[in-house]
Amino acid sequence: MPTNLKPYVYDYTLEDWQAWVKENGESGFRAGQIFDWLYVKRVSSFDAMTNLPKSLRDKLRDQFDFVTLNEVAHYRSKDGTVKFLFELTDKNAIETVIMKHSYGNSICVTTQVGCRIGCTFCASTLGGLKRNLTSGEIIAQVVKAQQLLDETEERVSSIVIMGIGEPFENYDAVMKFLKVMIHPKGLNIGQRHITVSTSGIVPNIYRFADEDTQINLAISIHAPNDELRSKLMPVNRRYPFADLLEACRYYVAKTGRRITFEYALMGNVNDRPEHAEELARVLKTFPMAHVNLIPVNFVSERDYVRTPRNDIFAFQRILEKNKVNATIRREQGSDIAAACGQLRAKHMESGAR
Ligand code: SAH
Repeated sequence: MPTNLKPYVYDYTLEDWQAWVKENGESGFRAGQIFDWLYVKRVSSFDAMTNLPKSLRDKLRDQFDFVTLNEVAHYRSKDGTVKFLFELTDKNAIETVIMKHSYGNSICVTTQVGCRIGCTFCASTLGGLKRNLTSGEIIAQVVKAQQLLDETEERVSSIVIMGIGEPFENYDAVMKFLKVMIHPKGLNIGQRHITVSTSGIVPNIYRFADEDTQINLAISIHAPNDELRSKLMPVNRRYPFADLLEACRYYVAKTGRRITFEYALMGNVNDRPEHAEELARVLKTFPMAHVNLIPVNFVSERDYVRTPRNDIFAFQRILEKNKVNATIRREQGSDIAAACGQLRAKHMESGAR
């Protein structure tokens, strides 16, 4: 938990506010007003909530904090991607990215300070896990991005939970975050425009399947078999490949939604034609599988090299020949170290948290 003793204003869902106003002897409609100030008008102080009586504003100030995301740095890529390094109240650093697409603005959020999953190619895991973010700290990243976009009358149109951290190891906060994001009286982001990505925390894939949402699920697969996946992603020893696929099948059967499998191509490690053939064999029988091929981002502490362009296309062709749908991720922000955890890792090198 963060060091502050008060909850954050963004930690509460509309239902939480309804309960809070009741407990505090306020009229029921105040809950909706507070929610509206936070997510529709997007103010950053209690004083700005001008249709609330002063006594109520004082009560709010006594009991809650706004999340302060202090901008340590921001980096703007040639392609319009902006990556922010924010410091939280307790000085821990997180990253948030705004990506410009032809269809709108997509926000990539962080769910944990650091990560304990230990994927060998990922910068987010270098210093281990410091702590979980609260739902309010995750929400604050989107509100902040929306406030910036408000200046040009643009909207956050989609969210990817692909920043630092493993969202399914901070499950409850992430579910609360999602609830507020999709609320029609809040930011009202379409469920189909939100994607949560997991390294494969099997029990929570089942839980997520049972939540009955339209939110997209992405699985970081990165290898076609147990042996290689365990080398790249130690989490595979905890939740083996077959169990992961079984959980994914359950998800598809339960929700009728397709899963995206993320596969970061690492030169001579998992990018050979035989890997593609094996992956195709595994996914061929999988209903509606979609593979997203990602050229690995160079991380200075890691020594993976990139797959040559032609080999990426060859990998894709093998999958498609086997009727496994595959796309190559358009890279954004690689000139500004926008891959997960790279900025924070650099920031930590300079002695920060
Ligand atoms: N922990 C979650 C959320 C992170 S999402 C997960 O593992 O899915 C970020 C995606 O980028 C994941 O698929 C992750 O495996 C991938 N990734 C991490 N480091 C990378 C790198 N150096 N190059 C390319 N992709 C990377």
